[in-house]
Amino acid sequence: MSKLSQEMRVQPLTLGLITTLQCTAACAGCCFGCTPRRAGRMKLDEILRYITEAKAMGTKVVVFSGGECFLLRRDLEAAISYAHARGLMTRCVTNAYWATDYAGAHATLERFRLAGLDEINFSTGVSHAKYIPPTRVINATRAALDLGMRCAVAVEMRSDSPLNKRRLLSHPRLRETLQDPKKKALLIVEESPWIPADGTPRRATERRAVLDSGNLVARKRCESILGTVAVLPNANMFACCGLTAAKIPELNLGSLRRHSMADLYEDAVADIMKVWLFVEGPERILAWAARKDAAIRWEGMYAHSCEACQAVYRDPRVRRIIRDHYEERVADVYFRLSLLTHQLPAATKGCRTSARRGLSRTPTSTRPRATT
Ligand code: SF4
Ligand code: SF4
Repeated sequence: MSKLSQEMRVQPLTLGLITTLQCTAACAGCCFGCTPRRAGRMKLDEILRYITEAKAMGTKVVVFSGGECFLLRRDLEAAISYAHARGLMTRCVTNAYWATDYAGAHATLERFRLAGLDEINFSTGVSHAKYIPPTRVINATRAALDLGMRCAVAVEMRSDSPLNKRRLLSHPRLRETLQDPKKKALLIVEESPWIPADGTPRRATERRAVLDSGNLVARKRCESILGTVAVLPNANMFACCGLTAAKIPELNLGSLRRHSMADLYEDAVADIMKVWLFVEGPERILAWAARKDAAIRWEGMYAHSCEACQAVYRDPRVRRIIRDHYEERVADVYFRLSLLTHQLPAATKGCRTSARRGLSRTPTSTRPRATT
């Protein structure tokens, strides 16, 4: 790892590989606009190169996602095996389209388990269910638990949906599997706010999840930015694996066809906006900006952190406040970074260096762009 990230004690612990933009579903509001007709997938040799470079930077976990990563079939198995052989933890994120019955799901997952897959995540909810019956997620979850794999299910949180966490967990077959406390301990089911497609009324999302001054205190820093780097099939590397990252040009770090992963990461670490998101999260940045400009609207509008992040980068009023006032926050941001990284003396030393570099980049990275 090069100097600045070492001084700041940050490193990309997770590599997220968006292996393909093709999917077996076409959910409304999909963050990458994936459909069965979308082209673009990583070649195996590209995947192996990304894993090798990430490992050299201290990455511990490789997440294979998409689109639908199981469409890569043997290449996915080979990539998992390659990462596993290098001591990396592996995870797949899938909609479970392939789990048409329990026996088939078990056979598929057993192959991946033998290749070195440690953990599997499933996505489901009312948008997914139009294309993938939730019973497939049940089949796949049961098979994963029976194979002793850690398993997480993300369910769209929508007030208009009959498919929720409680409904999923009450499925008779799954309840039977969960009678075993060891299997139960391997499963996490979470409801996650669904980011509606443009134009969908906000009320479609669970009200209690919507950000306001009453629940701001419960909002956390962004744990994805700088801790995760994501790569798309076109070789562009992103500073996080957020749901709106593809819509925020500043989070696109550049192409791995022209630069090394380490060089692109070093650029990200030198940008104070990214460090600010790392230590404070987008919701608090929005609230801070709104205290300086009462015309900034933020309460009752965003449920998911990545929606709030999109507003931080795209709302012209928020961008103006950041551009004009970010210097007031620099010392605090780097002090919080030093606390978070538990390395106060070294991080403080790194702060001075990185603050200078970060500040010089900030007017560029916060300037409104026509492309947004
Ligand atoms: S299953 Fe996931 S990747 Fe596929 S279309 Fe739906 S949200 Fe997008
Ligand atoms: S909040 Fe922003 S920086 Fe964090 S994951 Fe979401 S889009 Fe990325």
